[in-house]
Amino acid sequence: MINGKISHDEVSSTLPGSPELFNLISAKDHEQVVFCSDKASGLRAIIAIHNTTLGPALGGARMWTYASDFDALNDVLRLSRGMTYKAAAAGLNLGGGKAVIIGDPHTQKTEQLFRAFGRFIEGLGGRYVTAEDVGTGVTDMVHIFHETKYVTGIPFELGGSGDPSPVTAYGSFCGIKACANVRYGNDSLEGKRIVIQGAGHVASTLAKHLTEAGAKVYIADIYADKAKQVAKDTGAKVINPDEVFDTDCDIFAPAALGGIINDQTIGKLKCEIIAGPANNQLGDEEKHSQELAERGILYAPDYVINAGGLINVASELEGYSQPRALKQAENIYDTLKKILLRSQELGITTNEAANHIVEERLSAIGATKRIYASQSKFSGRFGEFWKRND
Ligand code: NAD
Repeated sequence: MINGKISHDEVSSTLPGSPELFNLISAKDHEQVVFCSDKASGLRAIIAIHNTTLGPALGGARMWTYASDFDALNDVLRLSRGMTYKAAAAGLNLGGGKAVIIGDPHTQKTEQLFRAFGRFIEGLGGRYVTAEDVGTGVTDMVHIFHETKYVTGIPFELGGSGDPSPVTAYGSFCGIKACANVRYGNDSLEGKRIVIQGAGHVASTLAKHLTEAGAKVYIADIYADKAKQVAKDTGAKVINPDEVFDTDCDIFAPAALGGIINDQTIGKLKCEIIAGPANNQLGDEEKHSQELAERGILYAPDYVINAGGLINVASELEGYSQPRALKQAENIYDTLKKILLRSQELGITTNEAANHIVEERLSAIGATKRIYASQSKFSGRFGEFWKRND
């Protein structure tokens, strides 16, 4: 199960230092968990490396006021595992990792704190590469960059990739076409009624692609002005945020927050496809993906369709190029189509089919790493480094 949540009880019964901590780490096959503590800067962080079969573990650093250290550990274990699946599904040669910094991002951020964090990352020698996440931003990544090159999401002028949302939006657009192909027999979105929840960074570009493809787009945001602006720019029609689930449409594209497909909303849905960029759309991965399948709604697994953001930052490692990142995001079409067809063939949910495909790739590429190959160097933002990483 992707993002399989480890229960609070499971974690809280496992105090750090007790032998059970290793059971917890190995329960979902994590490779390494690093606890970072620096009194001088106040840094308390956990870095979790889930799987490095495909390459260095890349994933953002989240800063959050966790209710307890165990909640922080729970979150970083869950999130890092999700990154393994996202990178593998996107065809990237990257593993899964994530970090959490315990603290209030509004009041406790300092240059010293992020530089201390950067030094811990440097100490991992490239096994973990960080990026922005909830509670962290470009400025924080620049502080980290003073101490380590193993950071992405830095500004263009420092070799970074800037705002990932255009690539996320384009990848999602390609994914929506793959869903249309499987559901309706062709890629055309002409005349399709598409409801987008959220009118933020990704949604505004996505609405543009969809309207240009001839779709009738309806957009809602809790900030009405944002929805109105997108409508003005694209010709979409504004609807109220509380209408997104009830509106009769062909495709629903969640582009706001997570957990929006849940026991309260699932029965209201009047769409045939759910395909959008929001993270963690299902309240309960297993239960709600099963319910959607039973209701005949085709669901595009979120970690597959929204991989454009990861593809964008990953492109930094080889020297950033937006055209290359956009081209790579087009692969989401083929990957998603393969997943949807596999789900139909085997009578399993689209989530299960996605997980199968990821696990097959991890196992196949892991197996090739038994073969000794001559070491070759290649250059990128990290300077020259060995292509074989095993
Ligand atoms: P954003 O903050 O720019 O936009 C989100 C928008 O959703 C905001 O305008 C907000 O007001 C609106 N919103 C919140 N709750 C709402 C509700 N109940 N109804 C309607 N609107 C609501 O964020 P973004 O960068 O555009 O990301 C959107 C989603 O895509 C998030 O779930 C994010 O995790 C995911 N995602 C983004 C990227 C990226 O490249 N930015 C990459 C992968 C996944």
